[in-house]
Amino acid sequence: MNHRPRKRFGQHFLHDPNILEKMVRAIAPRADQQLVEIGPGQGALTLPLLKAAHRLTAIELDRDLLAPLQTAAAPWGALTLHNVDALRFDFTQLSSQGQPLRVVGNLPYNISTPLIFHLLAQASAIEDMHFLLQKEVVERLAAAPGSKTFGRLSVMVQYRCAVEPLFDVAPGAFKPPPKVASSFVRLTPFQPQRHVAVDEPLFERVVQAAFAQRRKTLRKSLQPLLTHLDFNAAAIDPGLRPEQLTIEDFVRLSNSRSSAPIGD
Ligand code: SAM
Repeated sequence: MNHRPRKRFGQHFLHDPNILEKMVRAIAPRADQQLVEIGPGQGALTLPLLKAAHRLTAIELDRDLLAPLQTAAAPWGALTLHNVDALRFDFTQLSSQGQPLRVVGNLPYNISTPLIFHLLAQASAIEDMHFLLQKEVVERLAAAPGSKTFGRLSVMVQYRCAVEPLFDVAPGAFKPPPKVASSFVRLTPFQPQRHVAVDEPLFERVVQAAFAQRRKTLRKSLQPLLTHLDFNAAAIDPGLRPEQLTIEDFVRLSNSRSSAPIGD
């Protein structure tokens, strides 16, 4: 395919057959599954997945890639392409027959974090996700409480999913090579959820406010949202810093907020 990679679409195409084989093996696609690829590009991952699954849905923003990809895919199965922005795509519509989605992608790094948040909001329709991401992002996704990289992304993703970093991929596996190292990761939504925040928008606000000023104590950063009574009810020391809390602590803290507005 005679296509010049576009920077604005975060295009770094995989060309290393060993890495592609490792990725497909980790995904382990089967014929009866509902596979969805984000950013198929020139089909490096799409074609082997299609060979195994016989059908696949893909979301690709770059219109110029669609026709050659459709042609390349034709011998291998049914490829349904959506020429839309994955950030605006309603993935739940694809699981309309109740079959959960297996979402995969070598994601455009410039939108990977908002894309993960977009998918988390639709996690109930998803069986698992396999993403190639910047290694630094995978480290944040998988970070444990107490570590420097543990932050809002870690809490929000681990609230909904099990996170398994699988293997690293060097820049040379891509054309053009990105400036940073990459890692392949599996995210598996908990069904049912492990911890349930009764008021999820509040839980998100608590996590966001806590990490917006991560050097401050929770007492200070959460002052607009929680009182000392809420900390008492959750049995959490308000003198702690946000990285010292577990996912379950954050859920318990937001669930402990009394319904009375602050100031009453
Ligand atoms: N899967 C291919 C591969 O591994 O060689 C291409 C991966 S490349 C890193 C990212 C792909 O996502 C590109 O094909 C790009 O055009 C596409 N893309 C970029 N932004 C997108 C968006 N907002 N929605 C859907 N696709 C997007």
